[in-house]
Order: sequence, then C-alpha cells, then structure tokens
Amino acid sequence: MRRAIYPGSFDPVTLGHLDIIKRAAAIFDELIVCVSVNSAKNMGLFPPEERVELIRQVTDDLPNVKVDCAQGLVADYAKSHRARVLVKGLRAVSDYESEIQMAMVNAKLYPRLDTVFLYTRPKYAYLSSTVVKELARYGADLSDFVPRQIIGRVREKVAESGREYL
Ligand code: ADP
Repeated sequence: MRRAIYPGSFDPVTLGHLDIIKRAAAIFDELIVCVSVNSAKNMGLFPPEERVELIRQVTDDLPNVKVDCAQGLVADYAKSHRARVLVKGLRAVSDYESEIQMAMVNAKLYPRLDTVFLYTRPKYAYLSSTVVKELARYGADLSDFVPRQIIGRVREKVAESGREYL
C-alpha cells in the first residue's frame, strides 16, 4: 500500500491545504495529514487537537485520508507509520529553498523516505494560515480562503484570542 504523510502546522487548515490534500489523496492509497507540533514555534491560534478536528471536519468525504497529530521529527513519524513518502505543497520559489533542505535532512534521517512536491494552484499561491488569521482579525470575508464549514470557528477563535497568537 502506498501511504503518504502530509505534515504541517495547519493553524488553521486553508483551501490551499485542502487542495493539496485532495490531489495527494487521489495519487496515494492512504494519506495521513499530520499536524506537527514544533516546540520551536509559538503556540499558534488553535491547539493541535483542535487543528486535527477542523481538518477532520473538512475531509470527512475523503475515505483514504486520516488525520493525526505528532510531536518530534516527521522522519521518525513516517518510519513508525511505514510511510515512504512525504507530501509538501509549494507556493513560490521562496518555499523551495527551505523545503529542499528539509527534504534532504529527512532523507538523511530515513533514507527510504522521499518527498513529493505538489505545486499550488495559482488561485491559492498567496494563501497561508497567517494570511487567514490576519484577515479574520479585521473581519474580512474568509470564504475564498478557508473551507466554509470552519469559517465560523475561525472567526470565534480569533475574537477570543485577541492578538496573542500572532
Ligand atoms: P502555512 O502556515 O504557511 O500555511 P503549513 O505548515 O501549515 O504552512 O503548511 C503545510 C504544508 O502545506 C507545506 O508544505 C506548505 O508549503 C503547504 N501549503 C501551505 N499553503 C499552501 C497553499 N496555499 N498552496 C499549496 N501548498 C500550501
């Protein structure tokens, strides 16, 4: 079985992420979307368990997509789940440099692991979770940015959290 892992912060999941999830799920037998908790980064807006819940909500029509949360190295996670492919989305050349470096480090840690890059659809090229949080803070329409099922929750959470998460 070809199992792939799509790691990221997903704070929160955007339409850009969802597009990569759907395309990867059509290529691989099973896709595990893994919310990676990186201790070096700040706490973020949503706690990891809630990010997982939001991704589950928007992928419940995709039977071969699983959602999980993990601390530590993605290479270790892939090894323990017997996955040999990491999926990453590329938006711009600026993503490329750090993603290639990470792909090489991951292959060094787990030589059977390959990273597959899916290019963004141009309509999502400018989209990131940071942009979503910033727009939500100013009350902008989020319907072009996050799946419609989670718009209300993103708004609420931003209102509750004030500026702490930025
Ligand atoms: P961000 O906070 O920038 O959205 P994440 O860590 O949540 O970053 O992203 C997880 C993965 O999804 C990364 O491989 C990232 O390059 C990719 N990604 C994020 N946004 C998009 C997008 N709009 N189109 C394609 N890939 C994306």
